Amino acid sequence: MRAARQLEKKLYAPLLTVMTASTVKPIDFIRDTAAAPEPAGAENYALDTALLDLLSDTPKSAKGVVRLVGETVADLLYHLPCGAIERVACGEGESLADKAGETVTFELVVTGMSAPRNPRAPIKISGLTTGGELVNLVYFNGAGDFLQRILPVGARRLISGKVELYNNVIQVTHPDYALPPEKKSELPELEPVYPLTAGVLNKTVVSALAKVKDKIPDFPEWIDPTILPKFENLSRRAAFYRIHSPQALEDVEPSAPARRRIAYDSVLAHQLLLALTRQNVMISRPALLFEGGTADKLLAALPFALTGDQQSVITQIRDDLVKPQRMSRLLQGDVGSGKTLVALFAASFVIEAGGQVALMAPTEILARQHLESLTPLCEKVGIRLGLLTGKDKASVAKKTRADLANGEIDLLIGTHALIEDTVRFPNLGLAIIDEQHRFGVEQRLALADKGVSGAPAHILVMSATPIPRTLALTRYGDTDISILKEKPPGRKPIDTRLISAERLEETVAAVGRKLAGGERVYWVCPLVAESEKSDLAAAEARFEGLAECFPGRVGLVHGRMKAPEKEEVMRQFKSGEIALLIATTVIEVGVNVPEATVMVIEGAERFGLSQLHQLRGRVGRGAGASVCLLLYNAPLTKSGTARLETLRKSEDGFYLAEQDLKLRGAGEILGAKQAGFPDLKGFDPQCHQDLIPLARDDVRSFMYKDPLLMTERGQALRYALELFYPVDAKKYYLGA
Ligand code: ADP
Ligand code: MG
Repeated sequence: MRAARQLEKKLYAPLLTVMTASTVKPIDFIRDTAAAPEPAGAENYALDTALLDLLSDTPKSAKGVVRLVGETVADLLYHLPCGAIERVACGEGESLADKAGETVTFELVVTGMSAPRNPRAPIKISGLTTGGELVNLVYFNGAGDFLQRILPVGARRLISGKVELYNNVIQVTHPDYALPPEKKSELPELEPVYPLTAGVLNKTVVSALAKVKDKIPDFPEWIDPTILPKFENLSRRAAFYRIHSPQALEDVEPSAPARRRIAYDSVLAHQLLLALTRQNVMISRPALLFEGGTADKLLAALPFALTGDQQSVITQIRDDLVKPQRMSRLLQGDVGSGKTLVALFAASFVIEAGGQVALMAPTEILARQHLESLTPLCEKVGIRLGLLTGKDKASVAKKTRADLANGEIDLLIGTHALIEDTVRFPNLGLAIIDEQHRFGVEQRLALADKGVSGAPAHILVMSATPIPRTLALTRYGDTDISILKEKPPGRKPIDTRLISAERLEETVAAVGRKLAGGERVYWVCPLVAESEKSDLAAAEARFEGLAECFPGRVGLVHGRMKAPEKEEVMRQFKSGEIALLIATTVIEVGVNVPEATVMVIEGAERFGLSQLHQLRGRVGRGAGASVCLLLYNAPLTKSGTARLETLRKSEDGFYLAEQDLKLRGAGEILGAKQAGFPDLKGFDPQCHQDLIPLARDDVRSFMYKDPLLMTERGQALRYALELFYPVDAKKYYLGA
């Protein structure tokens, strides 16, 4: 093992020197699996230990625990308490009757047992306390034999449970503990309460944890020494111990230092993973040389001024492009915030520097839309455009590819057809990917990798889904993030109204009037269930009904249609061949139909806030005033009302996204999970969000100093990565 480490040092030492001498990022070493460091150590495996093995002396309860928490010791440790019971003692001279309602520990001498004939009636065990008070212990479904064994008449027992008064007699139903007095130490004063499932008792979880608590491996400390005091300097082991052996009621709150430390471990490991990904993406490349003359021409040709946000993002991008390093930037902005124009300015810099640009959209219709909107400006400034989609005729596609190869196209717009091997850019400088969530990380890299070797293309990803900063840091922490908050001037607000579903007929009549006036209408059908099939049935029924009202003017688009079919319907709607579009939630992202002025959303209470905002953003794009009608099924729940009212009052996508995160949690929003945080163990979105920027900043500054994770803390961070992301750790060579 030592030899392996020495070899590793030898291999990386020169790189380290290079690193400090320039900004070159050490990429290859990350992919180099040959020089794996010594294994992370046997301690790891304690966390992997199967609970069934560990708890094999009580196989029945072991099975219950596994069903509740998962298979391993780690799963058990992460089964966090949701509260705690404080056991008060009933001291000498105190009356048990005065403590009704509390969970009390007291001594008792068993005086009798009554087992009724009827098996449904409870068994009662009576006894006298040291203070001489009569107490009944009540057991339902109790096995008399068993009870006789643990509570024989004459025995002195320590009882702990919730004290009640029943017909003026002190009673404890199913005491938590009935122990001989000498076992007092087994009775915690403060007992954590765990989320449970049928057939698993809290006691069972507590005793399983008792076996595990002292077997938690301690890892080298990976938290920065200046940050650790925020968590009362608790080590990971100490934190888990504190959580499961609370000393005070506050210890089981998610805001407790121990809980925050455990959450921070998850967040830190995740940010580390993102930072490593980032190192792999933001590799060095020659700086681009340009003066910005084309951009000036663009500016002069624009019929309007750029918004302040557009200007500052364009500046950010220009600063990225002149660095000897690949840009990886996410541009977030609400629908209509003017992202395309920012992309065009970015493209102009690269093209002026002699490079080519690819702009990839998720659908053909969106690609064509970009071509149409960019053509007038590009003609004015001499940027040569091309279009390539999967639907092009073979001869057309062939010519496009040839023009591209000859350098006769500066900016090629297209669909994922751009990624295909036959498409060769002699000089790709920038890959722009629109509406990111349709494409995976691999696809965006696949496009950018069409760059010349040694000069990887810059990456600009555009997303119309505003998400809160903390969420962006966890999802896109591997990229830099720019935001367009400000909307271009002159945009008319969308009149958003809440309408009870009982007023469906009136709504249809109103839609009819709009259609008669030449306007176009979207009608989104409710999410019926998580199954697409039943959603579809609802949409089809609505389609048939409305098609009868407005014959020949109604179309239907849904998730089960093939992409070309969907695009055809969207095209008809855009061209006006149909004027009322019924849709499940699959309305093409980003499709611009300025004539559409009405958005009807049925079953609005079932959608998440962000989703509703996205849907509403389909209208309000033209000169006419637009309305959004939110049809809900009465009565609305409290959170449903809050959500719809919030939407009615605001059109700020970032604000709405923040609110969405706050209001969420009510299980009634379908599809909410995908919009949430990635699975961070022990992380509570209500209490721990501040940990995300903390970890992000820490990892970034640490990786700047120790990009190879060679220092002591760097090594410790490798353990964290190995522990939380074993598969990725292998990819990044960091584990065994
Ligand atoms: P999105 O961010 O949704 O991609 P677009 O780039 O499609 O938005 O822009 C929406 C519309 O706003 C387009 O018609 C565009 O020409 C217009 N636009 C963009 N920037 C401005 C601006 N600064 N002032 C006025 N209109 C603008
Ligand atoms: Mg767009």
